[in-house]
Amino acid sequence: MDKIDLTSTLDRVIGGRTAAKLSERLELRTVGDLLRHYPRKYDQRGKLTDLAELIVGERATVWAKVESIEERELGHPRARAGTRTKRGVSHITNIVIADSHRKLTCTFFNQRHWSKQLRPGADAMFSGKVSLFNGKLQMSSPSVAILSDGRGDGRGDGAKGAPDIEVIESFPGGVIPVYPLVEGVTQALVQRSIRSVLDVLGDVVDPVPDVLLAEHGLVDFGTALHDIHRPRTEDHLAAAQRRLRYDEALAVQLVLARRRADARNYPAEPCPRIDGGLLDEFDRNLPFALTVGQQLVGEIIATDLATIHPMNRLLQGEVGSGKTVVALRAMLQVLDSGRQAVMLAPTEVLAGQHARSLRDVLGPLGRGGELGAPPEATTITLLTGSLSTAARRKALLAIASGQPGIAVGTHALLSEGVFFGNLGLIVVDEQHRFGVEQRHALRTRHPEGNPPHVLVMTATPIPRTVAMTVYGDLDTSILSELPKGRSPISTTVVPAADKPTWLDRVWKRVREEVGKGHQSYVVCPKIGDDDGEIPDDGSDLESGEDGSAGRRPPLSVTAVAQMLRDGPLVGLRLGVLHGRLPSGEKDEVMRAFAAGDIDVLVATTVIEVGVDVPNASMMVIMDAERFGMSQLHQLRGRVGRGSAPGVCLLVTEAHENASGRARLDAVAKTNDGFALAEADLELRREGDVLGTSQAGRATSLRQLSMLRDKEVIAQAREDAQGLVGDDPEMSQWPGLAEMVSAVISAESQDYLDKG
Ligand code: ADP
Ligand code: MG
Repeated sequence: MDKIDLTSTLDRVIGGRTAAKLSERLELRTVGDLLRHYPRKYDQRGKLTDLAELIVGERATVWAKVESIEERELGHPRARAGTRTKRGVSHITNIVIADSHRKLTCTFFNQRHWSKQLRPGADAMFSGKVSLFNGKLQMSSPSVAILSDGRGDGRGDGAKGAPDIEVIESFPGGVIPVYPLVEGVTQALVQRSIRSVLDVLGDVVDPVPDVLLAEHGLVDFGTALHDIHRPRTEDHLAAAQRRLRYDEALAVQLVLARRRADARNYPAEPCPRIDGGLLDEFDRNLPFALTVGQQLVGEIIATDLATIHPMNRLLQGEVGSGKTVVALRAMLQVLDSGRQAVMLAPTEVLAGQHARSLRDVLGPLGRGGELGAPPEATTITLLTGSLSTAARRKALLAIASGQPGIAVGTHALLSEGVFFGNLGLIVVDEQHRFGVEQRHALRTRHPEGNPPHVLVMTATPIPRTVAMTVYGDLDTSILSELPKGRSPISTTVVPAADKPTWLDRVWKRVREEVGKGHQSYVVCPKIGDDDGEIPDDGSDLESGEDGSAGRRPPLSVTAVAQMLRDGPLVGLRLGVLHGRLPSGEKDEVMRAFAAGDIDVLVATTVIEVGVDVPNASMMVIMDAERFGMSQLHQLRGRVGRGSAPGVCLLVTEAHENASGRARLDAVAKTNDGFALAEADLELRREGDVLGTSQAGRATSLRQLSMLRDKEVIAQAREDAQGLVGDDPEMSQWPGLAEMVSAVISAESQDYLDKG
């Protein structure tokens, strides 16, 4: 037999039938696949699982003590008319198992042997789906396993060979690996297969260079693979986990480092700062002084733009930190070099607002082609669905001609085959609303010329680990300070169910704000009453998250606007804004609100990002528990933009101890977007961070945690940079390329690739 290595197929080592089953049920085909099927958790012999942690509806594996075994003879099913028995069931065994506090009933049908094989007092492992029956935790026909040394079962080896009891190995350290299972694959089967594989596996070539292992004090790959499955002691297990975690972090970072290296190898048109151009003129007329952060980031971007390789930069800055000015100055520098710039916004509302405010701040400089504009003036073209066909054709021709100028639009600009003759810079605002595909499309928008520089802006603070992975191919800058003159925002949770009179207070407060000459937003989770749970504008509305299934449908803009108009806010000027209005109307509403002609704007999350109306001082969010924390933070960032202090009221019917309430309290407690982003991350499933596949399968990162492993990720990033350095193909380290594809599924790699 040839040597067995990680690439050998499993049928060479374990029986063909078992191999087929592992392949079919768990997609494990090679020795490497199986060895990367790590235990989901480790139990300690003698330690019972906390039954309180079980989740109804999910599969679980628990160690528990058998408390009692009760059998019931049902007789012939037909003879027992009136009782709800399953067809053909004539005998039921209920095994009640327990931890030190709670009980759970395991039910078996027509299996008369249990009372002979297990006895009260025995410890055993039960795997199955947890359900709730008459208010009690239950598992129906779980698989049962005991330890091979018999110490757990209370009756020595007698249980071995029993038809329905599996025997799993116990290791000297008393650590028992528990594998993620699917229907039809048992713990014992996985464990046995892994042992067979480890027994015949030859030396494993370590893909990671020795110097790095030595530097970080990591065990070699073969040892790690052994100890992750058959840990000799807790310490050996910890060392194995540390090594495999590092490998995963390194694999991700290698993909990203190669991407960065790749991007750097493309040529770009350098757009150096030019004296006496639009940028200089703009800076001279700026009505305020740039913050130190804006100046610094501005310098960095100016330098990026002047180089012969494309800039790929992520600019993070709190809501209101003044990112637009930074972007505009970058665009002007590019225009000064005779090239085009485009700014993409996530919604038409925002695109319209950007075009307006660019025209405002540029003044005469933005009125190219108009009578009386200075000769150096540039043009600002807004491209949205509301343009007339003729206007649109004219705009598209201008863009295609390569005539320098700024185009503003939604990402539709990318999908509609718009051709830029001379594109120098793409600015993507509020990037978190753009899908992966669109981001990819951005970078490939250079059919003939060199790829443009790209500046991505986001106001959703991104936790550092996520920034280093999901956005790891971008250089990052942060605007941390807010411009002077910002007003504080105070946030309060309004428990409408516990204290109904508070809601009346909310509308009184809105009236008071209006009385003082200010304006308010009222945000609702959906548009109308007939459109189910579909959130407006692709927002990541979280519905039913707090487990209160079956409650009333979310409040809608139309219903709430009607209620306010006829009731508490009668006589005030109300406006309505949502994604389903014709774009002309959306624009009109936004313009009226900005001009102060609307007192209260009832809207969906279309106003979540970027909308800037300094006179608005109050934000009321209805059914607030239905929004994500970052979303709430974004929404409240719409107020406190002028001289009046901002007030944000989170109205909710979620009760005090519902999980949704905890998130609202967290939002109310801090204004620090980064802290909230971290908290948000903690509440998400790990898999959502890197993106899950279409099939809903989590990513293949199994050991690495975005929450816990910040240092490892940072370390791996540095190492990857070094390894890829002058050798982007990694030809010196063939094993690494293999490791990357083994660790990261093609799909996730693609995801990172499109970054
Ligand atoms: P965001 O980072 O959320 O996109 P904006 O770019 O919309 O923030 O800026 C918010 C507001 O602050 C705008 O009205 C803008 O004109 C103003 N602003 C930006 N920079 C400064 C500054 N240095 N001093 C005073 N106001 C500023
Ligand atoms: Mg903005």
